[in-house]
Amino acid sequence: MPVADLKSHLAATIRLFHVPVDNPDLMRAQFDAFSKQVPLLYFILMSNTIAVAYTYVNVAPDWLTMIVPGVLTVLAGLRTYWWLRQRHLVRSDADILRNLRATNWLTVPIGAGFTAWSFALYPYGDPFAKSQVAFYMAVTVIGCIFSLMHLRSAALIVTLIVDVPYVLFFFATGEPTLKAIAVNNLLVSGAMVTVLFIYYRDFADLVASRKSLLAQQAATQALSDENFRLANLDSLTELPNRRRFFAELSSAFADAERRHVRVAVGIIDLDGFKPINDNYGHSVGDRVLIEAGRRIREVCEAFGPQRVEFARLGGDEFGLVVCGDPEDADLTRLGERIGSQVKLPYQLDTAHTGLSCSIGFALFPNAATTSEALYECADYALYHAKRHQRGRTVIFSSELEAEIRSRGVIENLLRTSDFGAEMELVFQPIVDAMSEHTAGFETLARWHSPRLGSVSPADFIPAAERIGLIRPLTQALLARALATAKTWPDDIRLSFNLSAHDVCAAEGILPLVSIIEKSGLSPRRIDFEITETAVTFDFVRAQQSIATLKAMGCGISLDDFGTGYSSLSHVHRLPLDKIKVDRSFVAEINQNPVSHKIIKSLAGLCDDMEIACVVEGVETRAQLDSLRRLGCDFIQGYYFAKPMPAGAIADYLARERQRLGGAGAKVVA
Ligand code: C2E
Ligand code: CA
Ligand code: CA
Repeated sequence: MPVADLKSHLAATIRLFHVPVDNPDLMRAQFDAFSKQVPLLYFILMSNTIAVAYTYVNVAPDWLTMIVPGVLTVLAGLRTYWWLRQRHLVRSDADILRNLRATNWLTVPIGAGFTAWSFALYPYGDPFAKSQVAFYMAVTVIGCIFSLMHLRSAALIVTLIVDVPYVLFFFATGEPTLKAIAVNNLLVSGAMVTVLFIYYRDFADLVASRKSLLAQQAATQALSDENFRLANLDSLTELPNRRRFFAELSSAFADAERRHVRVAVGIIDLDGFKPINDNYGHSVGDRVLIEAGRRIREVCEAFGPQRVEFARLGGDEFGLVVCGDPEDADLTRLGERIGSQVKLPYQLDTAHTGLSCSIGFALFPNAATTSEALYECADYALYHAKRHQRGRTVIFSSELEAEIRSRGVIENLLRTSDFGAEMELVFQPIVDAMSEHTAGFETLARWHSPRLGSVSPADFIPAAERIGLIRPLTQALLARALATAKTWPDDIRLSFNLSAHDVCAAEGILPLVSIIEKSGLSPRRIDFEITETAVTFDFVRAQQSIATLKAMGCGISLDDFGTGYSSLSHVHRLPLDKIKVDRSFVAEINQNPVSHKIIKSLAGLCDDMEIACVVEGVETRAQLDSLRRLGCDFIQGYYFAKPMPAGAIADYLARERQRLGGAGAKVVA
């Protein structure tokens, strides 16, 4: 065998007698297991020793039979006591190593001491007592190897220190029986050492696999923590997401219920966000959302004394949970602070202003008694804010509750209503501004409910949209409107209102197309009025529907212009024929210079783009005169006529002809 190999074998052999220092986990496991077996080890040692000493009491000197075993027993007792007391201490790795090493080295004097003591007794005994010494040593060493199973180095040291002198000593006596016992002991010890090696290897493997299992568990835990974080976080704004919001809401709600305090839900919706997205692109839109989210979060964090949880619910909608017994005044204060932060300019390509937000709040227990209902109430308050108080904070109140109740009533009655019998159409003239001849009629729906009386379309059209009845309603009304228009002179047009749901339906506009074709009225005499909101709802679908209608020859009017986002990009990107300026601008045209200016610039814009400008809600001669001066093309309003039933149209047109002197001067729109 080469010297290098020999050296490495020697080193490996020497290592067997040392405590392994490179594996702290194994060391710790050894220490734990060993400390449990220490009492057993000393019990075997002492009980065997006392048995031998007893046999030799009257034959050997007292110092051998009494004093030495006595001292050894006391020392072993103390050592056992020490181990028992140490059992539950929390130890450092270094501490454990020190203790294991001490145990290792202690086996040398202890093993040598007991061996020497046994040999010293031996000469005093008769043959029986002599074989008892041989038996005692063999049994004790096996017991010790067993007890030291987890500390392989110590077990090997004991085997070596006891068994080598043992074999030499008993062979030297020349006694065949004792020699046989020595061989016997040697073989059993060898077998025990083999078992020891196998057991120790398995033990070390077990410790290692337990360690990797623990590491695996820790990794799994870390992964699931991360998943939890991601599942509850909005990826764009890094704010808590919708899921987190509802978890937060239900726990805050349960807490408020238990402690009999108030808790509020708020929903924030950005106003004017869609045009930013449309005009500047989605990446700019994303940046605005992140920035708005950051600002609102700052307000929430600085708010007190109530605690405010804030989350992004999706799109441009955010949620608030206000804990800590808030009152209406606190919610108003919070809403105002959020509103004023959101309004500050955003640095896009240029500084952009014009973003604001509407907020709806609902307070437990005033508004609702479950967290779901509370959320619904906040949503309704938001809806109310968007419709009537854009950019403001609305707190759900008993008035709103009454409104909801009536909404529910309208929805239920509408579901069972007979459109043919209960719906009526009325028609309002659209008049040429210069010639004052009627160019067409706008169709407006009326519902005469047997239970509610007459219900405004401003109430039942949105209700039909909510309950998914708007499309059949539109189809029924359109068929009737077309049938009515067929009875009119050929130069009178028909204007018909479409809802967002008609224009953006997935099934497309085809049902309406076939109704038009069946009617026999030339599509060239029809204008469809579409609001900006309908267009922004789903721009791509709206564009397709509009293109289909245009291809048939129908005209398209953009309705209620000036009330929505008023994004001029719609005007550019859609093939419009008319823009209908909302009546809110007309009401103040002669009092408010701003209204005057707006209509003036809109009329100019329409002129540039060769789109006709229709102004709604004209009630006085003075308004009409101003609008004519500003160059508006068509006028609609109570000044000329209120909406009238179909049967009144012929008379109306006849009177108009009389008033204006003959049919010849008509200008076709
Ligand atoms: P709109 O399309 O803007 O219709 C004009 C509304 O202004 C009508 O109210 C009309 O009666 C009213 N109006 C006309 N001239 C004047 C005026 O000089 N002064 C005042 N103060 N008001 C005037 P209406 O009939 O209550 O309709 C309300 C809204 O309901 C309509 O607004 C339209 O958006 C919707 N709507 C009505 N009928 C239908 C329909 O058949 N289908 C759809 N989708 N929506 C409809
Ligand atoms: Ca209209
Ligand atoms: Ca309108």
